[in-house]
Amino acid sequence: MQNITILGSTGSIGTSTLDVVARHPEKFKIVALTANSQTDLLFRQCQQFKPDYAVMLDATAAAALRQRVRDAGLATEILSGAAALEQVVVFPHVDTVMAAIVGAAGLRPTLAAAHAGKKILLANKETLVMAGNVFMDALHASGAVLLPIDSEHNAIFQALPRGYNGDLAGNGVRRILLTASGGPFRNTPLSELHNVTPEQACAHPNWVMGRKISVDSASMMNKGLEVIEAHWLFNASADDIQVVIHPQSVIHSLVEYVDGSVLAQLGNPDMRTPIAYGLAYPERIDAGVAPLDLFKVATMNFVAPDFERFPCLSLAYQALRVAGTAPAVLNAANEVAVAAFLDNQIAFLHIPRVIAAVLDALPVSKITCLDDVLVADAEARRTAQQQIQKSSR
Ligand code: NAD
Ligand code: MG
Repeated sequence: MQNITILGSTGSIGTSTLDVVARHPEKFKIVALTANSQTDLLFRQCQQFKPDYAVMLDATAAAALRQRVRDAGLATEILSGAAALEQVVVFPHVDTVMAAIVGAAGLRPTLAAAHAGKKILLANKETLVMAGNVFMDALHASGAVLLPIDSEHNAIFQALPRGYNGDLAGNGVRRILLTASGGPFRNTPLSELHNVTPEQACAHPNWVMGRKISVDSASMMNKGLEVIEAHWLFNASADDIQVVIHPQSVIHSLVEYVDGSVLAQLGNPDMRTPIAYGLAYPERIDAGVAPLDLFKVATMNFVAPDFERFPCLSLAYQALRVAGTAPAVLNAANEVAVAAFLDNQIAFLHIPRVIAAVLDALPVSKITCLDDVLVADAEARRTAQQQIQKSSR
């Protein structure tokens, strides 16, 4: 029996994880579920999965949940606050942590899982973007196992040799081909991009996801963050990683070897596949995903990315090359800009402008510990807010 804590259980990845878990009650036991403030859904999840603990970040929401859990006669203990997120990760009887909180809020609890030597199913790419070296060091020191859940990185993980040691060249790998759907605005005339709404940006053609990552997909910042994520996961340089637009989202990424072989992982665009892979690794279990019908897919297309249409992608490559605090600054500025766009404070095309201005304004320094990351993150958020005030005036 594998004991699991799910960070962000009410989100898109969290609910997909519980869907897979529910198909295999003999294999998985839920120790803890956590959410920001969605009391109704977390209560229903407590009823179905009977976790030992449930955490609500928000104290008022936690009090409401505590009452409902008590009234329903459930034994689940309700905790609240950011420290509780770390607490339910490090319990000795927790084997596996699904890191599926969105954004920088996921960093501390995911890092706690790395320090505690857990098996980590990593959906929260922001952890690696912000604090890649700190996280990887913690992982190596504790012997924690890291399995990428982001579909592209899961595909690359599957296409690399088993037990890959971080040496691309030594394993005969020429490069990594990171696929991208191109999002909802792949073909939108550039003149119309300025006026697109949050609803249009969140209407992804192939994937149903949370709002932040949906906007990231529309701006292709998601792919930029994924390039940085791939850098840390596979010890790949910016030059080793080629982004390929593949609108059908059937090939989830590829690895090109020096002998000309190109290995790919294919499947329907359904996050339950990488989630089930991570949960069962190194075995395979049913994920509830429909078999891929290649006759229905019929054709697959591949196009080079348009860096003019998607400046966020260039900004991310640039931040990766600069290194140090630059990726953390990029991530923080992006989170603030995306929140402002979702709140109708700035236009879609202002997102990359805010990020570029913040990257320009802040000096880059080395990251040696978590504090360096948090300082850079806070400074970038402040600077991004100032930029947003300016552009909305
Ligand atoms: P989501 O918005 O649907 O869910 C986010 C979850 O985090 C919710 O449970 C929410 O309650 C919780 N949360 C939000 N803010 C919090 C805070 N401040 N403190 C504690 N908990 C908080 O997001 P999602 O689409 O499931 O994405 C989660 C992560 O997985 C992101 O990092 C995203 O980049 C990554 N990811 C998602 C997908 C996808 O298909 N959705 C694919 C690849 C990677
Ligand atoms: Mg992805």
